[in-house]
Amino acid sequence: MPPPSVRPHRSPASPAPRRAGSLVWFRRDLRDFDHAALAAAIEDGGPVHCAFVLDREILDALPAREDRRVEFIDGSLRELDASLRARGGGLAVVHGHARDAIPALARELRVAAVHANRDYEPAARDRDGAVARSLGEQGVAFHDHKDRVIFERDEVLTRSGTPFSVFTPYRRAWLAALAPAHLAPHRVAPAAGVLAPPSSSRDAGVPTLESIGFRRTDLASLGVTPGMSGGRALFASFRRRIHRYREARDFPARDGPSGLSVHLRFGTVSVRVLAAFAHARSLEPGGEGASAWLSELVWREFYAQILWHHPHVVGHAFKRDLDTLAFPNDPARFDAWRAGRTGYPLVDAGMRQLARTGYMHNRLRMVAASFLVKDLLVDWRMGERHFADTLIDFDLASNNGGWQWAASTGCDSQPWFRIFNPVTQSERFDRDGAFIRRHVPELSALGPDEIHAPWTLSPALQQARGVVIGRDYPAPIVDHVRARADALALYGRARGR
Ligand SMILES: Cc1cc2nc3c(=O)[nH]c(=O)nc-3n(C[C@H](O)[C@H](O)[C@H](O)COP(=O)(O)OP(=O)(O)OC[C@H]3O[C@@H](n4cnc5c(N)ncnc54)[C@H](O)[C@@H]3O)c2cc1C
Repeated sequence: MPPPSVRPHRSPASPAPRRAGSLVWFRRDLRDFDHAALAAAIEDGGPVHCAFVLDREILDALPAREDRRVEFIDGSLRELDASLRARGGGLAVVHGHARDAIPALARELRVAAVHANRDYEPAARDRDGAVARSLGEQGVAFHDHKDRVIFERDEVLTRSGTPFSVFTPYRRAWLAALAPAHLAPHRVAPAAGVLAPPSSSRDAGVPTLESIGFRRTDLASLGVTPGMSGGRALFASFRRRIHRYREARDFPARDGPSGLSVHLRFGTVSVRVLAAFAHARSLEPGGEGASAWLSELVWREFYAQILWHHPHVVGHAFKRDLDTLAFPNDPARFDAWRAGRTGYPLVDAGMRQLARTGYMHNRLRMVAASFLVKDLLVDWRMGERHFADTLIDFDLASNNGGWQWAASTGCDSQPWFRIFNPVTQSERFDRDGAFIRRHVPELSALGPDEIHAPWTLSPALQQARGVVIGRDYPAPIVDHVRARADALALYGRARGR
């Protein structure tokens, strides 16, 4: 783990090189407003160089060469570069390994320091530690800053000084600790000439997707606009309906949630701006919607601090005794789940929404995850991996937290014996079947009372509706009542060990 700031150490024999200014290393913070690292670099004095590494360590490991996230990054980088250029600077974009590229850039630019915003994921911490050491060897300081959360690491602890592992008291403590300073933006106001344009050898602009081995996706046709402008537009529209959030958020056919997760993931919005708005609005009459939404931002921070304090959750159950759950992991069941062909309409609608758009509504993430683990008896880590590969807003801490919640292996999770009934969930949260019809069009002809469990319709009615189970839509892959009993037995065995 890198210390927050690494000061250079210099051998007495070597002459002190003339170094000036700093390099801001952008990562999951693709904006040039309210940016802790950029503000700190400007404060230090110019010249301030800006860079982004299209990191081969990450890109080469992606499962496909068409990846909506890479296209989102591409669009966001272009906008950020243009915005920095308008202020006299610009972005040097390197396709390479950040571990080497950042120290090499620092050497080339002869900067005194590198500033970056903190990343809490174990692999990123390892990378940053390596970069900090390598910079230190050449006499360059590495400063990392809190930016992507309101509270980080040890800033919100229990009275006895230990990390929280239950959400509700964490939320209470988070709100109690909140002061105006935590929500104050980091001012990015460079004087003329402080931002430095990329050097001529680095001024090729943002490399094309093709040149880094990727192809364009359907991002534009999905209506996802990358960059600060995309985040701003989405937030502007959400602000107008935030008062309805509490009532609307659980119904996937309604325009309830903000859709801002991808922007939070890549930092094209500032969490301080979002939280400041939600907090102020939550204190006004009728502020229940804003208060509920602020709680969701707190969930995000809850899982970030879980990952920070308990990095073993990557690959392991938070509750270590539940690492012994012996899932049968039937590959046919896993494939049917991924393809949205389980025969349970709400689960299939969610999984098809994910495949088609790279996004899945939160209620459906919970239902689909529970179904995979507790109905199909497939290891939560396989589902977690699939989400990581396909979600445009994939975030290690929130995804891991969500999966461990659904699998009952997590810190503050669903009790192990509580198993969502996929039909009841469907009747409750997609009452008239509008969401199912949108994503499972072969069920469109069914009425609200027929769509949630179509296999229960008589053969004659199935014929009449043109939805014959086994021909037009799969029969249920498992019987929920039996699957539930199997899951309880599986969990019971693990807990008895
Ligand atoms: C199995 C599972 C996997 C998940 N994987 C991810 C993931 O990879 N990335 C991700 O950002 N969220 C994940 N979530 C949380 C949640 O589903 C998404 O954050 C939310 O659906 C994103 O949509 P939104 O921006 O419209 O949310 P909104 O309802 O508008 O919420 C605003 C923001 O609050 C945060 N948030 C909301 N709910 C949660 C939550 N339960 N946990 C943590 N943060 C939350 C997100 O940053 C979100 O953008 C997962 C949940 C589950 C159950």
